[in-house]
Amino acid sequence: MSTPANLLDLDRPSMEAFFEGLGQKRFRASQVLKWIHQMGLHEFDQMTNLSKPLRGQLNTIAYVKAPDVVTEQISNDGTRKWFLSFPDGNCIETVFIPEDDRGTLCVSSQVGCPLDCSFCSTGKQGFNRNLSVAEIIGQLWLANHALGHYRNANKEPRIVTNVVMMGMGEPLLNFDNVVKAMNLMMDDLAYGLSKRRVTLSTAGVVPAIDRLKEASSVNLAVSLHAANDRLRNELVPLNRKYPVRDLIAACKRYAEGQTRDVLTFEYVMLADINDSPAHARELARLLNGFPAKVNLIPFNKFPQTIYRRSSQETIDRFRDILLDAGLRTITRKTRGEDIDAACGQLVGRVVPRGKNHLLHRVTLEADE
Ligand code: SAH
Repeated sequence: MSTPANLLDLDRPSMEAFFEGLGQKRFRASQVLKWIHQMGLHEFDQMTNLSKPLRGQLNTIAYVKAPDVVTEQISNDGTRKWFLSFPDGNCIETVFIPEDDRGTLCVSSQVGCPLDCSFCSTGKQGFNRNLSVAEIIGQLWLANHALGHYRNANKEPRIVTNVVMMGMGEPLLNFDNVVKAMNLMMDDLAYGLSKRRVTLSTAGVVPAIDRLKEASSVNLAVSLHAANDRLRNELVPLNRKYPVRDLIAACKRYAEGQTRDVLTFEYVMLADINDSPAHARELARLLNGFPAKVNLIPFNKFPQTIYRRSSQETIDRFRDILLDAGLRTITRKTRGEDIDAACGQLVGRVVPRGKNHLLHRVTLEADE
């Protein structure tokens, strides 16, 4: 007998295939997706519109299991961070950011990250493995439980209104699982978020940006941080493989033909590194005529970093140069800093895999 399946791993087509494989009608897939994702159930015996024999069968061949919550921290500003663990000992973090008009969940896609951007604490932990679909969508399922969404009888208004794939990891290096999980986020049988409310953030895995356009049309946030290769090679080592010019060309292809603005460029503000007026003008030239927003992110510190955050004055001056050049620019408000939940501060726990955990990084750089 095959090992039981975690049904959180299944998007709509896989769930349909699963039930067809059991000789069941397809609509069983819709029923079970709704029970799991809309109602938050994990016990088949509570899924009252399934026949008793089917529930019994599901109990033996399947289960619904999200990551375990180790701790929950709540910041002074209401931001919440969950430290989640998996049976193999690895841990990740997920963050919920409440605002007046929305609630954003920041979801992780990998245990650690292979990219090792010089200003990001996640990269310093090394990389262990990709998260499964269940481990990705399970973060949204868990947050909905923790925030009381499933206790609210009519499920409206939603508490998590937006999802950003901006937690630990590089989502485009875990392409298939991330796309399936995002499809569940947007599926009316599951979370029903509109694609305007789902954003994937990438350090710039160029071929995967083109694949993403084929697979889904979520918002794309690109971690640019520098407008020239010399500086970007230093900050985002992936740039040695996919230089600025190729990245910008891929962004143009992604934006082409979309009916709404889908692109944001992220730019972390590092004092005396990338924050001068000359850097701002260089960025403005690079993005000239681009249908994109710019998001300036004040650097968040972590132990052992050599970087410092640019002063507010410097950030404002940088922003004004971009605004004058016609770029829609906002400075991201730093949230959850007191509980290390801000951008680039998520560390989780990466179980070492001997030399292997560096393999991915080496492969990325080897074929330059
Ligand atoms: N790997 C993806 C998603 C994770 S990072 C990416 O690179 O986009 C989410 C955002 O936080 C990225 O823009 C990242 O560059 C930024 N970031 C990382 N470390 C940071 C730090 N210490 N301070 C501020 N922003 C940081």
